[in-house]
Amino acid sequence: MKRFFLIFISAIIICLSLPLHQGIAAEEMSADDIYKGRMTLYKQMEAVTYVPWYWLAAVDAYERGIRRARKDREETEGLISIFYAPKEWAGPLNPDWEDEDPYSLALFEGIGLDGDQDGKASRVNDMDILFTFASYLASYGHDDDNIEIGLWDYYQRDQAVNIIKGHADLYKKHQKLDLDDRVFPVPLNYNYSYRSTWGDRRGWGGRRIHEGTDIFAGYNTPVRSTTYGVVELKGWNRFGGWRIGIRDNNNVYHYYAHLSGFEKDIKKGTLVEPGTVIGYVGSSGYGKPGTQGKFPPHLHYGMYRDNGYTEWSFDPYPNLRSWEKQERRKK
Ligand SMILES: [Zn+2]
Repeated sequence: MKRFFLIFISAIIICLSLPLHQGIAAEEMSADDIYKGRMTLYKQMEAVTYVPWYWLAAVDAYERGIRRARKDREETEGLISIFYAPKEWAGPLNPDWEDEDPYSLALFEGIGLDGDQDGKASRVNDMDILFTFASYLASYGHDDDNIEIGLWDYYQRDQAVNIIKGHADLYKKHQKLDLDDRVFPVPLNYNYSYRSTWGDRRGWGGRRIHEGTDIFAGYNTPVRSTTYGVVELKGWNRFGGWRIGIRDNNNVYHYYAHLSGFEKDIKKGTLVEPGTVIGYVGSSGYGKPGTQGKFPPHLHYGMYRDNGYTEWSFDPYPNLRSWEKQERRKK
């Protein structure tokens, strides 16, 4: 009985919210409206499929990051970024890959479902896309372990499941989608200096290019997470010395290297916020564990994007400048 009531209620909510999503193109909406619209969709799907909203938000965020990083996927027309290839949506043997008839999709074993009950299963309709993905996950169960198995079967990539789980943890903890605040990695009241050195040649350890920005500061200056995120890596590397890697909810990986030490309680899996102290500036690296002093103390800060297969570095300098400016203005 309760379930039918929920479906009934969500059908009403869905009808009420349709004009919002179909009348206004996503690019004309404010960031606030986009988050509100997405949250409404996730919660509606949670009510119908019992898949917790933060898992849906996490998958959507992961796919948004991947769309941004790849050229072979068209831009989303709506609020939801989960991508289905036409063949997968309509069924590989379906003669018409643009088919939107739910019955023939089912016949040809296409994955697409009609989420908003308008008689069409559309590959570019937010409700249909999200309902299709939520139903897939729900077929595995509703608890975290089963959802993770469903995600593994879908992506066949451990790293994809790890990233999505990290996103889900963040959304669950903060109970909101807007996790866009940023800070500069070094407190502004400390002495520091930096300039754009991305792509410079590096001598030590063979031919490499410099994949980041060096922020010079005194030993033991606090190093702060610039974003909301999950600690994905912590430990020694012969290039980076003591270093920490944090992934944010846009699937950007932030790399902090040459630390003198870590903040206690920071370990793999820890959730951090903009401003959380993670370690301290040092000169570690360029040798076996514990090596330090081979160069002046500085924080090496790198940013990496992921496209679902590989990761690559991009220049963090413009971001650093703008976060620094933003933080100055707030004071
Ligand atoms: Zn560096």
